[in-house]
Amino acid sequence: MNLGNTTAHELAAMYRNHETTVTQVIEAAFDGIEDRDADIGAFLHTRRADALAEAGRTDASFARSEEMPPLTGIPVAIKDNMNLRGMRTTCGSKILEDYVPTFTSTAVERLLRAGAIVLGKTNMDEFAMGSSTENSAFHPTRNPHSRDRVPGGSSGGSAASVAAGMAVLALGSDTGGSIRQPAAFSGVVGMKPTYGRVSRYGLVAFASSLDQIGPFSKTVRESAELLETISGFDPLDSTSAKMDRPDWVASLDKPIEGLRVGVPREYFVDGVDRQVQSKVEAGVARLEELGCRIEDVSLPHTSYAVATYYLIATAEASSNLARYDGVRYGYRASGGPSLRDMYRQTRKDGFGKEVKRRILLGTYALSAGYYDAYYLKAQKVRTLILDDFRKAFGQVDVIVTPTTPTTAFKLDEKVDDPLSMYLSDIFTITCNLAGLPGISVPCGTSSEGLPVGMQLIGNHFREDTILSAAHQFEMAGGFKS
Ligand code: GLN
Repeated sequence: MNLGNTTAHELAAMYRNHETTVTQVIEAAFDGIEDRDADIGAFLHTRRADALAEAGRTDASFARSEEMPPLTGIPVAIKDNMNLRGMRTTCGSKILEDYVPTFTSTAVERLLRAGAIVLGKTNMDEFAMGSSTENSAFHPTRNPHSRDRVPGGSSGGSAASVAAGMAVLALGSDTGGSIRQPAAFSGVVGMKPTYGRVSRYGLVAFASSLDQIGPFSKTVRESAELLETISGFDPLDSTSAKMDRPDWVASLDKPIEGLRVGVPREYFVDGVDRQVQSKVEAGVARLEELGCRIEDVSLPHTSYAVATYYLIATAEASSNLARYDGVRYGYRASGGPSLRDMYRQTRKDGFGKEVKRRILLGTYALSAGYYDAYYLKAQKVRTLILDDFRKAFGQVDVIVTPTTPTTAFKLDEKVDDPLSMYLSDIFTITCNLAGLPGISVPCGTSSEGLPVGMQLIGNHFREDTILSAAHQFEMAGGFKS
């Protein structure tokens, strides 16, 4: 059985009709990983024995009952910065190489409760810092559409696992674009929910005011299902929102005729690849054919977003990563005459180049004398960016942009040029700064056969609007434009 084109609801129907068993599907999933992952490198570690034991138990309960939770028997991959009790969470870092958490993150716990079967943990840029998955301390991941290209990052392993048909669904995290950008590069659907929608409990913190967990899938419907499963208030995360969880799947077919779609001028500028631009423009035209009303909007502070993000995200990271001192978590360097030497050596050996760069930048931005000039200023600009969106959402319901300025770039192309790497998130970062939900959906391929992604941004807690627009775009053949 090839999981390549099978969706979660197709699998669910096959289980219900007893056309296949969960054990057969999970076995097929691991065979696929064995076949293809040596080339792609999407997974860091897998859990064949545990997953098959769970599959066996699921088959036994299928024999007894017809009523099963929604994701029963669906093979899922998890980015390696979310805890699953008893399995390593490395976060793509040497410093956590042997860290085995004693608790499960809320998002993963909810997946398990919904019956999903976790295949393993996926590769990522170290501490989710990067846009290509080349910053993993272990190995890079390759783009399933073109092996000499990156899958995007930092959730590149999760994106590639779904794109290559090794997992049916996957979870990633998005701080500045790490779900949507790899989804665009790998030709799958990826969504960052509204900040506060999904609990961050058990997600290794990078930049706490920006981090959100979200789904990867081949179709919009599956992302809606997965998001419904993992979202909702959690007393263990003080920033999780006390909001009712709507039935997103039911609202997918809500008519989008008359929906006001804003196209921000600032996102269709020089520097955006011509093919990306024309595919996204074709996507906008398709939305218009579906009855949406297209309008120009302006988000004038967009050009400050990357700079603002790299001050706020690095500042938060420098504080969050202070806990990796060789005492409380993970790797500890041996020897050294003093405690201070041990700290220093542990962090020197344990963190990679990009993580060190971020810690230095963040510590600098927060230090006395620079705090007002950098960190405080960045917070003010963050408010201006949020205000831009507030104004735009007074005028329209959805904002459409390219997800990324280019298609997937080559491995090694940007590793020595951090600034150009940072710029690949230029269109996704604003959503995180403003806390808004955004989804990337495929909208065709370039002449080289590389996927192009279109981003739909919604107002706070209006995941329903972007999901239904994206779903109807997909149903109208928009993914293949
Ligand atoms: N590429 C961005 C960064 O390196 C975003 C990463 C993310 O969303 N985790 O910070």
